Amino acid sequence: MAQNPYRDLPAVHDVLEMPPLRDLQGAFGRDVMTEAVRAELDEARQRIQRGETLDGHVAASGLAARVAQRLGRKFQAKLRSVINATGIVLHTNLGRAPMAEAAAAAACQAAQGYLNLELDLETGKRSSRQVAIREWVCRLTGAESATAVNNNAAATVIALRALCHGKEVIISRGQLIEIGGSFRIPEIMGVSGAILREVGTTNITRLADFERAIGPDTAALMNVHTSNYRVSGFTQAVALADLVELGKKHRLPVIDDIGSGALVDFARFGFQGEPLARDSVAAGADLVLFSGDKLLGGPQAGILAGKKEWIQKIEKDPLMRAFRLDKMTLAALEATLRIYLNEDAALRDVPVLSMLAMPLETLRRRAESLAASLRDIDGIHRAEACQDEAYVGGGSLPDQAMPTWVVEVEARHVSEAELAQRLRTGQRAVLGRIRDCKLILDLRTVLEQHEHEVVMAVLAAVGGA
Ligand SMILES: *Cc1c(COP(=O)(O)O)cnc(C)c1O
Repeated sequence: MAQNPYRDLPAVHDVLEMPPLRDLQGAFGRDVMTEAVRAELDEARQRIQRGETLDGHVAASGLAARVAQRLGRKFQAKLRSVINATGIVLHTNLGRAPMAEAAAAAACQAAQGYLNLELDLETGKRSSRQVAIREWVCRLTGAESATAVNNNAAATVIALRALCHGKEVIISRGQLIEIGGSFRIPEIMGVSGAILREVGTTNITRLADFERAIGPDTAALMNVHTSNYRVSGFTQAVALADLVELGKKHRLPVIDDIGSGALVDFARFGFQGEPLARDSVAAGADLVLFSGDKLLGGPQAGILAGKKEWIQKIEKDPLMRAFRLDKMTLAALEATLRIYLNEDAALRDVPVLSMLAMPLETLRRRAESLAASLRDIDGIHRAEACQDEAYVGGGSLPDQAMPTWVVEVEARHVSEAELAQRLRTGQRAVLGRIRDCKLILDLRTVLEQHEHEVVMAVLAAVGGA
């Protein structure tokens, strides 16, 4: 041991020249690397100061390896793709709907090159970016016209502003929803400049309540799907068709916020009460609003379908410029809508639909196979396939649990919370849910090609015990 242990520390320059760091210079640049080497050297000095003897890693190569690790940790991307084993198909914290392959490819192509976003290739003249989705939405919903903005919250704001600014909108007290993330109907009204006129009570609203409230300041009647809660028991709500009839009588448009934007009937999956965009248009709603990334299974967007007169008004509103979709989202949305032109293709290719449609028997087989692979891991005490229940999520179908198959996992030396944490923070993040002191991995939301990665992730998580 030298008399002055600090003199054993290599120079910054020497560390930077070591192979692992030389190879990283393309990724990080000299300044960032120098800073990281200095930080690592500082740490080594502090350890010497505390009286620790530093062996091996004071050498330039050892330090360089530690610096490379430090850089990897510090400059890891904040957004990482994760494996969703929660069973919640529309998980808002995990980006809601995973998109269809064709939609992702369209977004990727739009991102990497140029496209006729606002150009008619036939005439060479400027056109509207809404052309990309208008015809498809009209075909799929039966609406006269359609347009799209960033999300359904924006769709609601712009519709209310364009149609009802400074005037009253009548809505049932039973439908004054909060979706979460500060989307509350009364506040959205406030932002739009429309005046909220509540009628009825929480559980009972009658057509007569609407009729009595109509006056010279009324601009529209509104119906909002109570997506994320249900009022049950002694209840009464106004049917959309009756609201439409009342609207016609008084020459008032009816705005219907249906929330999830189902384009196929979800009764086929055993879910009741999810309004179809097409039914709402057929019932005569002047404007139907819905999300692109809930049950529709596309990118985040808010779609407005309805009478041409209102869509034109909305597109002329100055907020349209602020709320308009970017080229990648538009490309992905158009590709998603085009899949729906053939309903069988949609059920097969739109992941949200194929996950919901996945037969229990398939889920059971996949869960049993995953459980068997996990049982082969040393640190695993128990891995058992069993039946369970899960929810669609994303503020849709809140009261309807869906049967599913899961794997219950118990590790030998690691608690379920610790195991969940390690899986979340591992090389490949895997998210499960915790029930009865067990980690639950639900196969419904795990893409089949990711099953092996789940096994590798669990291996890494318990291996580090
Ligand atoms: C989810 C939802 C919204 C908000 O939609 P985003 O696309 O999340 O902005 C608005 N209204 C209803 C009824 C909803 O279910």
